[in-house]
Amino acid sequence: MMINCTKCGRELTAQQAGEACPTCGSLDRNLKVEDQIIARDKARMAREVAKKHYEVEPGMTRIIRCSGQADVEFKPSEPVKFLEVNANTVASGVLPLGFDPAPASGIHFPSVIVEITPGEYAKVQAKQLSLPEGWANWDNLSRNSDATGGNGSSRRITSSRKGQSHDNPSPDRELQMPSQGRDRFRTVHGLDRPE
Ligand SMILES: [Zn+2]
Repeated sequence: MMINCTKCGRELTAQQAGEACPTCGSLDRNLKVEDQIIARDKARMAREVAKKHYEVEPGMTRIIRCSGQADVEFKPSEPVKFLEVNANTVASGVLPLGFDPAPASGIHFPSVIVEITPGEYAKVQAKQLSLPEGWANWDNLSRNSDATGGNGSSRRITSSRKGQSHDNPSPDRELQMPSQGRDRFRTVHGLDRPE
């Protein structure tokens, strides 16, 4: 089964099925209403998970939502699948890690994450390293891509760093500490004894 935009006919991936059509912006699909709702909820969850992972992991260079057959992806029990490229991880091949839904955090579907290094990512692209079956379709979840205004967060991080370096009294303290230490050293060893 293929998913199409019913307005312009474009064939869509699982992620695109849950968002506005990249060609015409329509949200109408050749799907049952309940499948459309799951497609939309999973697409939103994918964006939110990616946004958080970019925020907490500075080495994250790329997050891709992987998907297989459309009719499988619309089952609520089918995990949302993430390929995460992290410069700070160790190369350990393709090791899928499963996570349960966490409704309290807005995660209503299970997920599976494969975390790889940029070097391993190059091997995946060259087909020297293979992903599990059903991971064939890729949607890049870019750092600044939106759903929830993703690029606001990187701006916040920059400004809070700037604020820290302005307000941080530690440079003064660092200068002070050794001089206090020197003073104490002199006193203890009687070097300040007047001649
Ligand atoms: Zn369309």
